[in-house]
Amino acid sequence: MAKDNELLASVSDASIESEFFSPFPPGYKKGKTKYCVVVGTVMSGLGKGIFSSCLAKLMQDKGLKVAPIKLEGYLNIDSGTLNPFRHGEVFVLDDGMECDMDLGTYERMLDLDLTKDNFTTSGQIFSTVLNKERHGDYLGRDVQMIPHVTGEVKLKLRTLAQKSGADIVFVEIGGTVGDLENAYFIEAMRELAYEEGQNSCCFVALTYILEPKTLGEQKSKAAQLGIKQLLQLGIQPEIIACRATSPVSEKVRQKISLYSNVPFERVFSMSDSPSIYTIPAGLRDSGIDFGVLRLLKIEDRIDLRHERKAWAKWCDFTDRIGTAKREVVIGVTGKYTTVRDSYASIINALEHAGIALGCNVKIKWIETSSVNDANVAGELSDVDGIIVPGGFGTRGAEGKIACIKFAREHRLPYLGLCFGFQMAVIEFARNVCGLKNANSTEVDPRSTLPVIDVLPEQKKIEGLGGNMRLGGRDVEIKPDTIAWELFGKASSVRLRFRHRYEVIPSYIEQFEKAGMIFSGKAPNHPIMQILELPSHPFFIGTQAHPCLTSRPLRPSPPFAGLVAAALQKRFPADNLPDPVKAVQKIYTYNP
Ligand code: GLN
Repeated sequence: MAKDNELLASVSDASIESEFFSPFPPGYKKGKTKYCVVVGTVMSGLGKGIFSSCLAKLMQDKGLKVAPIKLEGYLNIDSGTLNPFRHGEVFVLDDGMECDMDLGTYERMLDLDLTKDNFTTSGQIFSTVLNKERHGDYLGRDVQMIPHVTGEVKLKLRTLAQKSGADIVFVEIGGTVGDLENAYFIEAMRELAYEEGQNSCCFVALTYILEPKTLGEQKSKAAQLGIKQLLQLGIQPEIIACRATSPVSEKVRQKISLYSNVPFERVFSMSDSPSIYTIPAGLRDSGIDFGVLRLLKIEDRIDLRHERKAWAKWCDFTDRIGTAKREVVIGVTGKYTTVRDSYASIINALEHAGIALGCNVKIKWIETSSVNDANVAGELSDVDGIIVPGGFGTRGAEGKIACIKFAREHRLPYLGLCFGFQMAVIEFARNVCGLKNANSTEVDPRSTLPVIDVLPEQKKIEGLGGNMRLGGRDVEIKPDTIAWELFGKASSVRLRFRHRYEVIPSYIEQFEKAGMIFSGKAPNHPIMQILELPSHPFFIGTQAHPCLTSRPLRPSPPFAGLVAAALQKRFPADNLPDPVKAVQKIYTYNP
């Protein structure tokens, strides 16, 4: 009540003409940061994130500071509750933010650790606006989509610009132009461009060129209509990138140019590419990077010497793509096997490891619901290594345990990630330590022998919504173990986590006596984070998700180790180095 009175008093003091909300953070200077806004037309799933990250990479190579941000139209506050089957994997940032998989693309392409400042959803925007309203921050004004909600979006972008000191903020708008969900984001971008002034924002429309099999030629109508929709929203794109299966013909590009007021030389073709890591070269060849620089009038900020060096390093990496002489098959068990996006980071981490080791990694997806001890040998007969990735719930758990048992007994290289780490502990407890009923309370809540249970710290907060242990954590590495060798003999490494369950500490001694080594643990807590079997060619499990921090030029050591072990197994006559030596040869680990 007292607060309400204060509020009313301040309202009556204020002029009814003034606006109390400013979309500018204090001290913001226009012109320092430019904005490159990427929107999609025709359909979603065109790879806006890939395009935007590749363009950002070219700018970063030129010595410019870049900061990406993805704006998601959905009302969820973060991506933590989203089903990866529908929406692709949940990517976890070092600060614990659960976000869209595109953030993974940005981290990998730019070799940056991003934060919650690089990701927002409508849920976050609206919740901030509503909190401000309850707090009385709008001082008697009716809270509106414009200026308050669009203002909040602009404020978010400018705050990122200011905090990061970026030369260019890359804004990726989720969804497609014409969606109700992202319409206010697009309006906010129109306002941003107007307020920031000429040459401060560059709009890139990513569109799709259809090529119906029955016609055998490229058709531009859908693209034209999509761009028209954008024009109707008051946005004139400066650049159009045409996605298509094959290179977009000059005729089609000319049509699009005429229809959208975009000069022909700024209508680019972007056809399918076998690896996303070769896309920057394609964009560079087309001159899109200098197109953006000229539009933003920041050619004078670039450092060409920096670019020469960065580009040479990148080309050393991309030159190796597609030149592998050997191939291995890695089996990946998982229930979301129909949607590759749900395992994007694992696929990337395997690709990084393969490129570094000069081998092609083929993935065999294994649905484990019907796998058991009797048929597992057949299921795994053609794989050279196996990954049991992260997962939740009970489906397929016994099949995964059967795969792990087979891998352990038949010296098949194994990497267990999070759930796969927990399943490896259960398998070992059951089949090596004789704890026949060992299980996880996640799989069997009434288990009489839970060796995996909810973390005590999570138990305490369970009633409050039960959050997970999320984000980057330091992992203490035990000297003279395989993990220690793989991580370049570092005493501590930083990995990312997303889990609720852990190994019950009272069993650790028993497991270690039977030959399992816990080579990584949380500092100051008995939380086991890496396990290994020294008597096996390669058997590693980790409670973390090392795939989230694998980078093109710095493959994740456990992944590289797995691929190296698979290579050794597949080509016994080739005298290949063991996993530890192979990983050490790739690079000196740089935590
Ligand atoms: N479901 C397990 C847990 O919550 C594993 C989580 C995961 O694999 N990300 O601990």
